[in-house]
Amino acid sequence: MTDMNAETVVLGDLADGRLSGATAELIALGRKLGGPVAVAFAGVGLESAASEALAAGADKAYLLNSPVLAELQTDALVAAFEQLCKHSSPAVVLVAKTPMGRDVGPRLATRLGVGLAQDCVDLRRDSSGTLIATRPVYGGNALAALAFSDARPSIVVVRGKVYPPLAPDPARKGEIVRFEPKLDPSAVKARTVQFVRREAAGVRLEDAAVVVSGGRGLGGPEPFGMLKELAGLLDGAVGASRAACDAGWIDHSYQVGLTGKTITPNVYITVGISGASQHMAGCSGAKNIVAINKDANANIFKEARYGVVGDWKKVLPSFIEAVRELVKS
Ligand SMILES: Cc1cc2nc3c(=O)[nH]c(=O)nc-3n(C[C@H](O)[C@H](O)[C@H](O)COP(=O)(O)OP(=O)(O)OC[C@H]3O[C@@H](n4cnc5c(N)ncnc54)[C@H](O)[C@@H]3O)c2cc1C
Repeated sequence: MTDMNAETVVLGDLADGRLSGATAELIALGRKLGGPVAVAFAGVGLESAASEALAAGADKAYLLNSPVLAELQTDALVAAFEQLCKHSSPAVVLVAKTPMGRDVGPRLATRLGVGLAQDCVDLRRDSSGTLIATRPVYGGNALAALAFSDARPSIVVVRGKVYPPLAPDPARKGEIVRFEPKLDPSAVKARTVQFVRREAAGVRLEDAAVVVSGGRGLGGPEPFGMLKELAGLLDGAVGASRAACDAGWIDHSYQVGLTGKTITPNVYITVGISGASQHMAGCSGAKNIVAINKDANANIFKEARYGVVGDWKKVLPSFIEAVRELVKS
């Protein structure tokens, strides 16, 4: 029997010390499920993130403080969240599909002996209140609906950019609860030796309103220069198919798709991309797809709102010129 008053706990993630976009999305999802929503932050100096979480729609923020959590190592995080779950007995734990979430979620489920659904793109309650998670399977060609056993909590790892965050309301009030897990420093088997920040110019791929992606049809790394030029004119970001990344033409951090990034731009321009289901799994939330491909039968044209059947070498330069003129005027 589902207890609708039991909490949904979101495992909070920070970005530069602030509430991450992924966590704000999960708070919005928690509200949609009904019942109180709490966010659990682990580490040190978490007060401002807690206030941001309340403004983003949470009813409560748990602050898990311990010097052992300072480096946010998985071993320490799993132990801390395990103790919190045993203490607060949430109905649902929501985890973002981030490097942290993918690491912590399954280990937490194993420790608690409960079920976990990975890579979910939807989560809802059916008419009886049962939680149903949906995840793509068979390379994005089918969707599986998963129900959980009664073991509490149900742990759900959710893809990014599926639920829009709520508009922050700084006047929203909520509870801040300090929780001090008992952590054994010797249980932390890994150490962070160095953080290396990737220098990124322009808009982040995941946040861009316009994305211009290139695939195997580009034939090499050089044409990505033209894609960057077009993306720059449109204040957008560059992406790529896995084939282009695997060929070493562009770094894997640009990959869009099932095993790459999920994006939801207003306009997604693809150049020399066939539109394989694994690629589309990462961009099906794009509002308008524009395809340039020389094969009229390419799958991408089934998904695209606008398309040009032609060689990108002929199409792209005049397309860029037309955009340049338009943005000038
Ligand atoms: C488990 C798994 C996970 C995967 N994850 C991902 C993922 O996250 N992201 C991803 O992208 N793929 C992923 N893939 C790979 C995916 O199946 C495809 O192989 C890949 O997306 C193909 O990339 P592509 O469209 O660039 O290349 P292709 O399929 O080779 O298509 C190239 C296209 O370029 C066109 N073309 C060629 N020359 C020109 C020209 N001069 N002008 C215009 N058009 C031209 C061709 O007509 C063709 O349609 C995954 C596969 C598996 C099995």
